[in-house]
Amino acid sequence: MNQTTTNHQAKDSLSFLNPAAPEPWASFIEQIDRVAPHLGPLAKWIDTLKHPKRILIVDVPIVRDDGTVAHYEGYRVQHNMSRGPGKGGVRYHPAVTLNEVMALSGWMTVKNAALNLPYGGAKGGIRLDPRAHSRDELQRITRRYTSEIGVIIGPEKDIPAPDVGTNDQTMAWMMDTYSMNVGCTATGVVTGKPVSLGGSLGRHEATGRGVFIAAREAGQRMGVAIAGARVVVQGFGNVGGIAARMFHEAGAKVVALQDHSATLANEAGIDVPAALAYVQAHGGLAGFGGAAPISSDDFWLLPSDFLVPAALEGQIVPERAQQLRTKIIVEGANGPTTPAADDILRERGILVVPDVLANAGGVTVSYFEWVQDFSSFFWSEEEINSRLERIMVGAFDGIWKMATERGVSLRTATFIIACHRVLAAREQRGLYP
Ligand code: NAD
Repeated sequence: MNQTTTNHQAKDSLSFLNPAAPEPWASFIEQIDRVAPHLGPLAKWIDTLKHPKRILIVDVPIVRDDGTVAHYEGYRVQHNMSRGPGKGGVRYHPAVTLNEVMALSGWMTVKNAALNLPYGGAKGGIRLDPRAHSRDELQRITRRYTSEIGVIIGPEKDIPAPDVGTNDQTMAWMMDTYSMNVGCTATGVVTGKPVSLGGSLGRHEATGRGVFIAAREAGQRMGVAIAGARVVVQGFGNVGGIAARMFHEAGAKVVALQDHSATLANEAGIDVPAALAYVQAHGGLAGFGGAAPISSDDFWLLPSDFLVPAALEGQIVPERAQQLRTKIIVEGANGPTTPAADDILRERGILVVPDVLANAGGVTVSYFEWVQDFSSFFWSEEEINSRLERIMVGAFDGIWKMATERGVSLRTATFIIACHRVLAAREQRGLYP
């Protein structure tokens, strides 16, 4: 495979994404424009958030298992570092673009500030289909990518983590490669590592757990109990899978699931642990016998109490927003709802718990992992989960109050709190030189 075929493949695979959705960076800019009127004198710094601090595009060449040479395009974007080092995941997906990684890095800036974590925002990605590569090829790709972005990452500079298509093994290879290059074991360069290599207990479940906490908090305020609730989940990977499991364990009925391979429904409630075991063994939901296949259109029309988009961005566009029959959307994925769809959902009285709050459990426990690595002192899982609970509930409370006081959506309220923190830091630091 050469660069031309790589790009061609990326174009074809854009069909994964919703063609009706605007480019993710355009959605991010619109969200920033919406918050500006709420920032008082700090609004004069708003353009800072429309200009990523640093963008690195790298060529990642490897020798494939069949002896041919393949090139992949990789990115690391550091959106803002006013409040601390960059922090954000690395995505392996055939539709990754620079535009998408820029938006994802911007959402990390907002998320980290909203949770008051001492980080800026960053994100990385490589345009490739991880399912079309052997483990050895993925290792070579990961190591070369890590070396290429090695000039700008580090425990005090920018700390990657897993995202779509990457996992704890990817992070182990990144940590090892960076460590080899700097001549010492630098566990704090990435988070989401295996526990045996300085990873944190509870990190694997943290994003899904945070989604569940956000759903529970929203439900309490809206009079929607988790026990007995009907739940629909799109994306059944790290985030959607764990969130679905936690809903199931709390007595909710997960009535439909969708992943890249299938869309399934069961009115009686899907046996989530059985579905998770099936995906572990078969790589996707296709063929799982515990629910019946339905069309993607029907999936979005199912009545539910909670809808959890936990796959990719641009899924809830205006047409879908008009049709959804749910009460509360809890955004496990980053950027699943477009700004125009957000307006329609608000008019229709459907509550949206935004990504920058709902999926922040992952980066919160990543922060715990980084602190544990620096101190080489590791906490118990109960300690981690109770700190996560405290931080998520505290952030939810503050954001809910802000939304009520200003009469704005939870997304705008989260952006107000976060952008205020980022731009206050910008102003206090002053512009160099
Ligand atoms: P993952 O790779 O573990 O799982 C992704 C899931 O989405 C898989 O089930 C896949 O089959 C499904 N999917 C892919 N394309 C799809 C499509 N077109 N339609 C339906 N399903 C599709 O990834 P993840 O880590 O669970 O991430 C999911 C989302 O959550 C992403 O938006 C990511 O940025 C966000 N997120 C992840 C974390 C984390 O800690 N992993 C943290 C915050 C936010």
